[in-house]
Amino acid sequence: MAPSPFLSPGPTSQPNSLALLALRRDQLTAINLKDSPDAVTNTRFGSFPHKTLINVPWGTQVRAYTVHGGHAKGSKKRKRAAGKESGHGKGEANGTGENEEDDDDIEAAATGFAHLVPPMPEAWTVSLPHRTQVVYTPDYSYVLQRLRVRPGDCLVEAGSGSGSFTHAAARAVFDGYGSQAFQGNEMGEKEGDGEDVGRRRKRKKYGHVYSFEYHEPRAKCLQEEIKEHGLEDVVTVTNRDVYEGGFCVEGAEEPKANAVFLDLPAPWMALKHLSRSPPEKLDLSIDQQNRDARTWRSPLDPRRTVHLCTFSPCIEQVQRTVEAMRQLGWVDIEMTELLHKRIDVRRERVGLQEEGLRGVNANPATVEEAIERLREVEARTSRFFEAQKENKSSKGAKEEADPLKAEVKDEANEVKPLSKKQRLDTIKEQVKERKIWKEGRLVHRTEPEMKTHTSYLVFAVLPRSWTQEDEEKAARKWPTNA
Ligand code: SAM
Repeated sequence: MAPSPFLSPGPTSQPNSLALLALRRDQLTAINLKDSPDAVTNTRFGSFPHKTLINVPWGTQVRAYTVHGGHAKGSKKRKRAAGKESGHGKGEANGTGENEEDDDDIEAAATGFAHLVPPMPEAWTVSLPHRTQVVYTPDYSYVLQRLRVRPGDCLVEAGSGSGSFTHAAARAVFDGYGSQAFQGNEMGEKEGDGEDVGRRRKRKKYGHVYSFEYHEPRAKCLQEEIKEHGLEDVVTVTNRDVYEGGFCVEGAEEPKANAVFLDLPAPWMALKHLSRSPPEKLDLSIDQQNRDARTWRSPLDPRRTVHLCTFSPCIEQVQRTVEAMRQLGWVDIEMTELLHKRIDVRRERVGLQEEGLRGVNANPATVEEAIERLREVEARTSRFFEAQKENKSSKGAKEEADPLKAEVKDEANEVKPLSKKQRLDTIKEQVKERKIWKEGRLVHRTEPEMKTHTSYLVFAVLPRSWTQEDEEKAARKWPTNA
């Protein structure tokens, strides 16, 4: 199995592999890094030639460039015409350690940069092509934790939709390349129940997600993405209506799931396939039912407790789902609603009086301050006119009239403006003394817009099946005194 950039991204970006450009906090673009001099990703913040993004340590700030049409003739000319010697561009390091002296077709843009981040389910959720509503990070983190998904587990999901949950689930079940095959189960028993052991070993080695989607184009898109992302050994996407067809994989004794996530319009219609025994079909004769029972397979691992979660936007859907769960023997049924809010913590200016500020660029924060400030300006202006009257240097007086400019007086008591350097030094000194980052009142605000599609999460548990053989084994292991 080739390493997936989602599961093992390595320290640097690689050619012909997925990377994400973080343009803003919530704006990420997924790019397949092509090892070609002409490959460029254009964004509103500038163009990012792929050659400047390959072999770059993850997290690096990468600069935007102006691209002059690849290696086309005359690009040097155009570059000169565009005034290349403007401080950005020729010879400047481009963040990759390369020197652009020899690059004829690109130059650093005046502004624009991004951060190069490795593919992660969280980043993919923000950047993926939306084909449906998706499950967002706060929801799937909570769901996977409540489903107790661990490396080596087998999870069944329907519907796949845009594959947001699928990617998070793949990482959660992944057991590491080259790790030892999962050898036992909750009872400490070894494999040997007649199934294809080689196949089971392979699945157990990495953990597995079986994802079902009845919309054919969506299923195909996700299959392609999974392949591109190197996740095909961890995820199997099947195009199927699970209400009708259930969750078993044809020609294999699988999934043997211990975790189930249903993001479907009618989860109760899929629940009948998630049981330990065949569903009762009242329209069939007893004989037919018995025949069905012999060929029927459960998609659940008989040796493990199964944890289930359904994701539904309406309470009516929840009611029907809970009803079906009770009838089918699910226990510990519980509904949760997640409300995700991001809290923005920052410092906010308080009154100048409180802060003791009288400095340059200080804007009034209260009415009292504004009045005081006006009085100051008026006083300075009247001093200016008085100075004019007394035939003082008009330049010096002008400076004095400007309330935003500081002033010094020399020995002869003449007004002299501060030089630019002196003003900068004064500001630096003020910043050092005032600890400007600690100024203002610490406030926190919740962001009004919530980037989650809120739904009701219903959790339930199906205890492991218990056979006569298990009972006897347990009796031998823990003999009673009777
Ligand atoms: N969880 C997905 C994600 O995070 O990207 C989004 C799922 S989307 C809200 C619901 C999906 O269920 C749709 O793509 C829809 O086609 C699929 N679906 C609806 N009924 C289905 C059925 N009977 N069998 C399989 N998939 C079904």
